[in-house]
Amino acid sequence: MQKLSERTAGFTDSVIRRMTRVSLQYNAVNLSQGFPDFDPPKEILDRLAEIAASGPHQYSITWGAQNFREALAEKQSRLMGKTVDPNGEIVVTCGSTEAMMAAMMTVTNPGDKVVVFSPFYENYGADAILSGAQPIYVPLNPPKFNFNADELEAAFKLHPKALILCNPSNPCGKVFSREELEVIADLAKKYDVYIITDEVYEHIVYAPHKHTYIAALPGMFERTLSCSSLSKTYSITGWRLGYIIAPPEVIERAKKVHDFLTVGAAAPLQEAAIVGLKFGDDYYADLLRKYTEKRELFLKGLSQIGIPYTEPEGAYYVLLDISEFGYESDLAFCEKLAQEVGVGAVPGSSFFKHDVRHLIRLHFAKRNETLNEALNRLEYMRKKMKI
Ligand code: GLN
Repeated sequence: MQKLSERTAGFTDSVIRRMTRVSLQYNAVNLSQGFPDFDPPKEILDRLAEIAASGPHQYSITWGAQNFREALAEKQSRLMGKTVDPNGEIVVTCGSTEAMMAAMMTVTNPGDKVVVFSPFYENYGADAILSGAQPIYVPLNPPKFNFNADELEAAFKLHPKALILCNPSNPCGKVFSREELEVIADLAKKYDVYIITDEVYEHIVYAPHKHTYIAALPGMFERTLSCSSLSKTYSITGWRLGYIIAPPEVIERAKKVHDFLTVGAAAPLQEAAIVGLKFGDDYYADLLRKYTEKRELFLKGLSQIGIPYTEPEGAYYVLLDISEFGYESDLAFCEKLAQEVGVGAVPGSSFFKHDVRHLIRLHFAKRNETLNEALNRLEYMRKKMKI
């Protein structure tokens, strides 16, 4: 038999998704793969029920149903403070996972360099491999996960084609300040680099932090592919609805990549989600209130257990420092944690470029009772996780 593709030979399966399977195997409270265990808004579900009877059930326009793009453009114009054209500046994708992949394929040639902050969401590594791009990693330094501007400029001097910006950041919860985004924007303009964003947690930013769209900074819309999704904002991670917003010349190309990758996002789900896109500001305030409460509950519980952790400024992840347990492998630690303690976590090493084995990631996008159950179990962590 001939060998399978070299391009994908080095792939491991996604550690995040694997930990969901491990959690299921041991009946653990799954705080690994970040998704809610509470329902999406009722209005969206009611609309979905109507659509089951009325349709649409056939393909929508490949780059997104007209009414979905219009509702999305209206919402994002309001948030970004810039009019987004529903007809020329949006492609609707199958989740932001496809948005990011399509954005990478749109911008890069094999061999091009792409700047990635470390820690990073694990898909970016796979995106780079699939598109043939070479990542240049720039560290975000704990505890605040700030970058060093000189280190970033050194990366830009290597002539990258693009920089990937996850803001708010998964897994470290960093929210890039306007000043930090201005530093990145100035470098992008100086060295003529595209920015590909992942802004799926744009509505989960804890006070006093604020989300700034880098595309909204002066001169940046032209060179930014803003990727996001409805997954986290409306608690519909399984619907796989995402999008790219970018200038028309970029979108023209991204539409073709998307068309040949997936044809289109699910038509009935786009139709049902429009209700959500039309929600008023009170919905987003309420969502944030809910996550702020979960953050408090979870962090307070972790403090009581007394294991050091990062305090997220945005998104819903916490990195727990497991140094005291002295494990060689964070993956082995997570497997044992699921089996013995009954809580699913993601090994931190899957997010870092350099060798990091003393962190695990937990998320708190769960019902309060689920979080309390997880905290009750984690109380026994010291006892049960001793080597
Ligand atoms: N973003 C979520 C996480 O980091 C889940 C992503 C996914 O599995 N598609 O856990």
